[in-house]
Amino acid sequence: MIVILKRPTEENIRLVCRKLEQYGYGSNVSQGEEKTIIGAIGTRPEHRALLMEQFAGLPFVERVVPVLKPYKLVSSESRDGRSVVKVGSVSFGGSEVVLCAGPCAVESFEQLSAVAGSVKASGAKVLRGGAFKPRSSPYDFQGLGEKALEMLSELGRQLDLPVATEVRSARQVEIVAEHADVLQIGARNMQNFDLLREAGHSGKPVLLKRGFSATIEEWMKAAEYVASTGNMNVLLCERGVRTFEPQERFTLDVTAVLLARQHSHLPVGVDPSHPAGRRDLVPGLALAGVAAGADFLLVEVHNDPDSALCDGPQALLPDQFAELACQVRSVAKALGRQ
Ligand code: PEP
Ligand code: MN
Repeated sequence: MIVILKRPTEENIRLVCRKLEQYGYGSNVSQGEEKTIIGAIGTRPEHRALLMEQFAGLPFVERVVPVLKPYKLVSSESRDGRSVVKVGSVSFGGSEVVLCAGPCAVESFEQLSAVAGSVKASGAKVLRGGAFKPRSSPYDFQGLGEKALEMLSELGRQLDLPVATEVRSARQVEIVAEHADVLQIGARNMQNFDLLREAGHSGKPVLLKRGFSATIEEWMKAAEYVASTGNMNVLLCERGVRTFEPQERFTLDVTAVLLARQHSHLPVGVDPSHPAGRRDLVPGLALAGVAAGADFLLVEVHNDPDSALCDGPQALLPDQFAELACQVRSVAKALGRQ
């Protein structure tokens, strides 16, 4: 259940949380600009009806909503309207379609600097770049690790761009959170529950990729793991699922964007690069994502993709990204967005 307070004084909030605790529930307090919402964490069906009645009778409670979904905090049932996740001065989930771009992997300071400068000039608001790469083969380039984190934070500072990078294991959360503004959890790790919790506890915004064979419900429950730590700053990102078609690397599940936006109030974005696997398909998939309501795009860009150490064939050249950024703005405008 969710308790929505109309007079959220500290005392009122404490009273509700204490009562929940008495009945064996945890609580998650989310303070919005107008309302404060307290989510009851735990499943104690024997007390639910009684507690709901008691809360509804309190003068400072606006309403009590039973949330029956197994993902309560991230469920659209728990909020009126969509939530906005702030990363520095960038807002995800508002009217702007936020462009996040950069190389698949950080390879050198020069490479990152060239790509970062160009994507910023084209309107990207967040710099992406892999430091710890999740590679299918242990013999493939695994990323520059901490050195890459330092380059990301240095260039992010220089260009005033927040930085998003993948954290591959729970052990890396602390070091990645020291350097990055957004912790990316990759498709292969969507159900790494220890990682989800640890990333949540870092307090940093978490970009959660959908696993390539995960159902929408599994994806929502994974987001709930992060939210259940009290960190509601979660960005959902569709990046394609496995299908039978060999001509595409994965299949972008556009329907998932629509469904995720129905099921959750969290911002939903699209990574058009990994489903494409080849750069000629990337712009079309990106625009399809925007048309479906994506709040952000996560796009791979490289200044010399032929010599890229990871995912070169799907990386857009800087000029191609500039062109895509213009097209995104046109589609966004047609939909009443920025
Ligand atoms: C990436 O963004 O570079 C990446 C590895 O993504 P995914 O987890 O979606 O494969
Ligand atoms: Mn990649």
